[in-house]
This record gives sequence, C-alpha cells and structure tokens, in this order.
Amino acid sequence: MTKEDVIIIGAGIGGLSCGALLAHGGHKVTIFEKNPYIGGACSSYIKDGYTFDRAVHLFTSGLNGPYGDLFERLGLDTLHFIKHINERTAMKIYKREGFFPFDINVYSLLKTMKPTSKKKSGESKGKSNRAGSSIMKGLKSMGMGKNTMKDFSRVMTSLMTATKRKIRILYEEGLTVTEWINTMTEDPFIHGILAFLLAGMFSISPKKASAAEFIYCFKDEMMATEGYQYPVKNGAQGIPNAMADAIKKFGGEIRTDSKVDQILIKGDKVQGVMVNDKLIEASIVISNLTLRMTALNLIGKDYLEKSYAQRVAKLEPSLSSMTFKLALKEPIIKDWGFINCYHPTLTDFADKYPPDEGYPYSNGFFGPVLSNIDSNLAPPGGQSVIFGTLVPSKGPDWEKWKRVYWEDLHSFFPNLNEKLKFYDITYPKDLAKVTGKPAGPVEGLALTPKQTGKNKPSSIIPGIEDLFLVGDTAGKGAHGIGTQLACNSGIQVADVILGFKDINEI
Ligand SMILES: Cc1cc2nc3c(=O)[nH]c(=O)nc-3n(C[C@H](O)[C@H](O)[C@H](O)COP(=O)(O)OP(=O)(O)OC[C@H]3O[C@@H](n4cnc5c(N)ncnc54)[C@H](O)[C@@H]3O)c2cc1C
Repeated sequence: MTKEDVIIIGAGIGGLSCGALLAHGGHKVTIFEKNPYIGGACSSYIKDGYTFDRAVHLFTSGLNGPYGDLFERLGLDTLHFIKHINERTAMKIYKREGFFPFDINVYSLLKTMKPTSKKKSGESKGKSNRAGSSIMKGLKSMGMGKNTMKDFSRVMTSLMTATKRKIRILYEEGLTVTEWINTMTEDPFIHGILAFLLAGMFSISPKKASAAEFIYCFKDEMMATEGYQYPVKNGAQGIPNAMADAIKKFGGEIRTDSKVDQILIKGDKVQGVMVNDKLIEASIVISNLTLRMTALNLIGKDYLEKSYAQRVAKLEPSLSSMTFKLALKEPIIKDWGFINCYHPTLTDFADKYPPDEGYPYSNGFFGPVLSNIDSNLAPPGGQSVIFGTLVPSKGPDWEKWKRVYWEDLHSFFPNLNEKLKFYDITYPKDLAKVTGKPAGPVEGLALTPKQTGKNKPSSIIPGIEDLFLVGDTAGKGAHGIGTQLACNSGIQVADVILGFKDINEI
C-alpha cells in the first residue's frame, strides 16, 4: 500500500487544470489516466503527417478565459494561441458557389463601425466592413427576407445587451432558448440560425437549452477581444500538453494506461482508489469522470443518499458528434480557418433525426481548417480539415448515416474526391472510448434549465468527505463552453482545496 496526497482520476482538461494548480500549491499530485495519451476529448493524433483532433475543437477565449487565469497563477508562459480565427471564418451555403465571411464576434464587428478618418488602418477596416456586409449577404442568399432581418437584429441585440440582472431572471424563469426567442419572434429562419449557433456551443436543441446559460456563454464568446483561438503547437493537444508539463514541473506525476476501477470510502471519508486490483491511498480524491459515472459506477449507490442517487441517474448529456477527418493532397479551402456549412432550410437540427425512418437528414457541418490555422498540421501542399456534425449517441445504422453525411459533404465540396488522400470518421462509440463517457457526448452535461443555474450539480457529493468532481459535468459556479467550462471547474475545486474558496461555492 502506498500513500498519495491527491489522486486525480482522468487526465482530461478538468483533471489536468486542477492538478496543475494543486501541484503548484505544494500538493503531491498523481493522475491516473486510462488511455495511453492525455487530454481526453481535447486530444489529437498524427497520421501520415496529418494532425487531427480526436473530437473537433476551436477555443472561444484562449488566454483571455480560464486558461489565461490558470497559467498566470502558475507563473508560466508555456501556452500560446493563434488568435482572431473568427476573422477568418466563413459560411458555405449548400449548393451555392463560394464562401461568405461570417464573423459574429462583437469586438471585430465594432471595428467595422470605426470612423473612416483613420486611413492608415484602411486595409483592416475594409476587410471588416466586407465581413459585416457579407454576413448579411450570406443570410440573404439563404432566403432571409426584410422582416426576418429586422427580427434577427432584434434577437441579436437582445442577446448582446442582456444585463446580469436579466440573465438572473431568465435562470429563475427556467426558459429554454426556443421559449426565449418566441418572446420576440416565431420566425423559423431565426430559430434555425440560433439552433445552428447553439449546436456549436452546447450541442443540444434550443427546445432543451437554457436561455440564461446560452446568453451568458454567447456574450462571453462574442465579446472575446481576441476572437476564436487555437493552440500554436500540436493542435488541441497543445493545451493538455502544457498543463501536463506544469504538473511535472511542480513535482506531480501522470500515469497513463492506468484505469481506476473503484473509489474506496470508509465511513464518510474517501480512502483512495483501486487501480489494477491495488489500493492506492490518498487524502483527497478528485474525479474527472462524469458525476453520473463517479457516483453510480466508481462509488456505488450504497454510499449515496437515495434521492441524490436518483437525481444523478437522471442527468442528461448533450448530443454526440460524428466527425470526418479529411487528409487532402491539395486544399479544398484556400484562405479560411473555419467554415460553417449551412443548409438554407436550416431548422432545429434535433428535429432532423427521424428514428422511425432510420436515417438522418444532414444539418450542416462545423469545419476547422486545421492546416490553414497552423501549417504544421499537414504535410507541405496538403490540407487537414475536420467536419463535425451532431448526432444522437445511438444511431440505428451508422453506415446509412455515414452515407448521408458523406454525400452531403460532397455537395458542399464537389471536388472532394479528387483531392482526398484518406479520411477517418469518428462515431459516438469512438468518442465514448476517448473520454470514458458512455454516450460519447460533446458536453458531459446538457445545459438545460434543469441542469444549470441553481440546479447545476455541485463538485462535491453530499455525505462524502474529500471527494471532488471536475470536468464539464459538475461545478455550481463554473460556466463556459466545453474545455473552458472543464478548466473553470478544475480551478474552482483547486481553490477550495487550497483554501481560497468556500466549499459551498462549488
Ligand atoms: C465532437 C466534440 C467537439 C467539441 N468541440 C469543442 C470546442 O470546439 N470547444 C470546446 O471548448 N470544447 C469542445 N468540446 C467539448 C470539450 O472537449 C469537453 O467538454 C472537455 O474536453 C471535457 O473535459 P473533461 O475535463 O470533462 O474531461 P474528458 O475530456 O471527458 O476527459 C476525461 C478523462 O478521464 C479519463 N478516464 C475516464 N474514465 C477513467 C477511469 N476509470 N480511470 C482513469 N481515467 C479515466 C478519460 O480517458 C479522459 O482522459 C467538444 C467535444 C466533442 C466530443
């Protein structure tokens, strides 16, 4: 039997960010990770010289958000981002020629309103103006009429100007995004656009998503002064790598290929974890698994209050995703760093899974063009791009689904086959393997009114001492999208253990 100080189960963004702060704070940190690699959903792989993220990632605030807080507190300048990818973002409309700039970042749109007198900065001003008017051109060419345009700008203004008080009221009212938009307009086109934006953020239907949480996160995303970002090195993997280096620098350890099978509890206190039939004792255990898996699988119902166990069993994840990783001999996308592929008939994507018919209709794709962001991510002359779309975690027949989406991608990019060297497809079951989250969700907790605000699950489990949860499924005070939410929860748990925060706040 060996005695450890802090054990963390899982080297996802939540576990690593928490581990880095605790190691920096003097704790002896050991992380057990079941995979041979670290990073969970936020990891990448290299094949034939092409780098792909295992999921599909862009980062909305880079060092302006929780990553910046974390590395500043660690005193390290080891994580860097390529910025302003929003200014290189376009939409591609089904069966239409060309790309339309689609930068909805408020900071760069504000730049479009600067007076013309500053002639020297004419070039970027011209570019931004082009962006602003092209968004409208793009929307028009998708069929947006005058009245829709008016209602759209009303909804966007309401989004951007919502005060903290307004958001608090929306949390209390528990409105969904659909209900909130309906207070302004029932226009299906606007509901469709918002559904698409929401798909990229929360990966659930607007009929389910919390309006308050959506507005909270959307404002953050749109107001990010340095726009969408991406690590300068190693794709998405650059983020967990920098965190892992910090952990090692401060004396911590990460053991890969080490699956934790059980968390041991004695009385009401955590004792340690079982790894390969061996008990590893610890004073504190932190789980980066979902709350549901931690409570019901690693601890077991016997240690939980009955009503708590019932509530945890009902927690819902977001939808899953199917991603196409394309290794291209030659580029299919010249200048853009990120492409949104839209269908003009866009509606709520979640209505597009007719389970009885057994196949999906496509609902468009999100596509970071990795090698246009960082040229090291494909061999010279080649291109690496990922197209991701949302799917339920259980499809009736993935071959059919693949056919529908593959054909759809070819409609967006008719010359795809000529340029293709190889492609990989990631299905929900592959994502489940990467993260250990059984449904392979994009986000471990669907951000619905019942699972956000005062209803958001806590990072502590009632009745069990010195056991904490980090990641995208728990943390009362943690907000944000995906990895940033996970990092935020990791920081908050570390702050409680380090004595900087009250346990009731997480
Ligand atoms: C398709 C897709 C697209 C996404 N797009 C974005 C995006 O653009 N921007 C963004 O910010 N976020 C995005 N996300 C979400 C983001 O990746 C996740 O929210 C975030 O990475 C989750 O972090 P986590 O800390 O909860 O841990 P996870 O990534 O879930 O990691 C958990 C870790 O625990 C390990 N583990 C599990 N069980 C055990 C065990 N028993 N023993 C030991 N180790 C174990 C796993 O192997 C894994 O490494 C996307 C996710 C997906 C799937």
